[in-house]
Amino acid sequence: MLNLLKTHFGFEQFRPLQEKIIRGVMGGRDGLVLMPTGGGKSLCFQLPALLLPGLTLVISPLISLMKDQVDALRANGIPAAFINSTLTRPEIARIQAEAQSGKIKILYAAPERLILSEFQQFLQKIQVSLIAIDESHCISEWGHDFRPDYLNLKMLRKIFPQVPVLALTATATPRVREDIVRQLSLEKAKIFISSFNRPNLTYMVLGKEDAYGQLLEILREHRQEAAIIYCFSRKDTENLAADLRAEGLDALAYHAGLENEERRSNQEKFIRDEVQIIVATIAFGMGIDKPDVRLVIHYHLPKSIEGYYQETGRAGRDGLPSKCILFYSAADAVKQQYFIRQIEDANERRNAYQKLEQMVAYGELATCRRRYLLEYFGEDYQQEKCEGCDICLSPPAEFDATVISQKIMSAIIRTEQRFGMNYIIDVLLGSKNRNILERGHQQLSVYGIVDDFSKEELRRIIGQLVSRKLIVKNGDGYPILELSPEGREFLRKREEIRLSRFAAVTKLSPVREAEGGYDRTLFEQLRRLRKQIADEQGVPPFVVFGDLALQQMALYLPQSEENFIRINGVGEEKLRKYGQAFMEVIQTHARENNLGEKSIPGKRSPMSRRVKREGSTYQETKKLVLQKMSLKEMAKTRGLTASTIVSHLEKLRNAGEEIDIDYLQLPPARFETIKAAFLKSGGMALTPVKEMLGDDFSYEELGLARLFMK
Ligand code: ADP
Ligand code: ZN
Repeated sequence: MLNLLKTHFGFEQFRPLQEKIIRGVMGGRDGLVLMPTGGGKSLCFQLPALLLPGLTLVISPLISLMKDQVDALRANGIPAAFINSTLTRPEIARIQAEAQSGKIKILYAAPERLILSEFQQFLQKIQVSLIAIDESHCISEWGHDFRPDYLNLKMLRKIFPQVPVLALTATATPRVREDIVRQLSLEKAKIFISSFNRPNLTYMVLGKEDAYGQLLEILREHRQEAAIIYCFSRKDTENLAADLRAEGLDALAYHAGLENEERRSNQEKFIRDEVQIIVATIAFGMGIDKPDVRLVIHYHLPKSIEGYYQETGRAGRDGLPSKCILFYSAADAVKQQYFIRQIEDANERRNAYQKLEQMVAYGELATCRRRYLLEYFGEDYQQEKCEGCDICLSPPAEFDATVISQKIMSAIIRTEQRFGMNYIIDVLLGSKNRNILERGHQQLSVYGIVDDFSKEELRRIIGQLVSRKLIVKNGDGYPILELSPEGREFLRKREEIRLSRFAAVTKLSPVREAEGGYDRTLFEQLRRLRKQIADEQGVPPFVVFGDLALQQMALYLPQSEENFIRINGVGEEKLRKYGQAFMEVIQTHARENNLGEKSIPGKRSPMSRRVKREGSTYQETKKLVLQKMSLKEMAKTRGLTASTIVSHLEKLRNAGEEIDIDYLQLPPARFETIKAAFLKSGGMALTPVKEMLGDDFSYEELGLARLFMK
């Protein structure tokens, strides 16, 4: 399995749980996988698909995602296809025929296909070995993304009673999980729950005192990197995008109110690295799995922790360090409350208030934000400090909050524990609010007794008193502040208390880099090449290589196939397709800057083992060499091109195989010409030499000459 992982996907190791899940699937058992975004769910059905005899059917709700996934599989040399409404009838017929003949290993389909009788008939005719249900929370009405079409999936179990089902989702709530199990009859399924911690994400909260100025600073600091900025309303997204463009930043808006065409095009530009910044409402993100989003910024307060976690989850799917920044102000919370008040259903309203309060608490937290998020999802976070949130990275200073806490708590008692945070603050600050005057609360001794803290600061102090459980929030909707028994004790015994002082964070600490010290110039050159190749092939750049792969290339400067394949994400197919082009850029850069290849630590190369394996394609070629066949004859016998045969010879040589190829020597005059051209080109890449020598010399001849030069 490790071999398949490397040759087809280019990875060295399984991520936590992947191997267990795959073993379960291979054993024919149903499974339910709960893993955060970016955890590596796709591999859990894509790798078994290669091993299983029949076809793996993948149900996926988003048409745009299907294409990207299939492109990514094909780039890895895995026969995959999708069937959805974007295809014409003849195209569908062709794919179905291919699936029937066993040419396709992985077939993606949208859930609405399943009710078409045509499609059902097609299913009857194919051999299905595994059914994978992606985004399986879509089957639950409790989830945030219910899709009635998902109910059609029940039928799949009837058509294929013996075929194992693997349901996958990034939604962690128990209610949704139970629903998936029930709706898909997964009672016997093995359930895999991975940690929802995303260690490569740094969480931070900034005050809104100079939000726009700070936003600009952050975006300028991250100029070449993909960022999503979430805003409250459609109008906000358009205004902010226009403002950013006026500042010379590359930003586009995205929201549900845009014309289909514009929306699609803006999203496409983002995926294809043509625009760096998308300013969006929450409508954005579901339909993309761009792995290299480096920044997710919430310019306004989200409605719930679930939503926030989901949206921040779109950062750093490739595992590289990325930031999630929330601009927090109490005023935003008040705005949200205004909308919640319009909700008619009392239950729903109460629910919404509660969720908002949990979000507010996150914004006002004085303790580790990661811990708070994970505990929200019921996970026990063991570490004391996370090293990946603003609080842990630069703990806020403390101050003696005894007096101010006493004032706040007295105000709550004097107003008979009947009011929410804003009202209490108004009383403390001596507001002329009509409500206060009508109730006669300006007569209270606590009225206007605070003049050393602002409204915002008071909110944060109250937030901390709530998290210390001295004050509790209660009530059937808008949260009412009350004192807990501990709070009463605190007042009665005149205890002392220290709380965190919040200074507006002006400077963000720099992001940690996974492959620190990589060559930025080379990285940019490789990025440009990636973009160019991606455009030629009509795929998003990340389908060619991920950022991590490019960073490793820019760090280790691999210039031989042997080393190139050790880069993360480079499997055999990508080596064959792109290796040459990328190594040429690396070679040129290395030569111009006098840099050498660096060894890639702790990575095994599967190549030499493959080359040496009995019965491998290389050994077949070796047999022909032993018979002293010419290049042409070997190509003909094996049904391969002469260039491929030459590449086999190279691999056999590199793997230390003893083969005598002297009989394949070129005529001396031609060899000398080619050798001179190589020396002139200053590297060992074929293309520049070919360009120099023109059509008189074939690629395989150049390749052969290169072999003898070594
Ligand atoms: P999910 O569907 O869980 O959001 P994906 O399947 O899209 O996550 O995987 C996220 C990223 O992790 C992808 O870029 C994928 O190529 C990468 N990945 C998956 N498994 C591994 C692995 N074993 N080693 C390295 N990278 C991996
Ligand atoms: Zn932390």
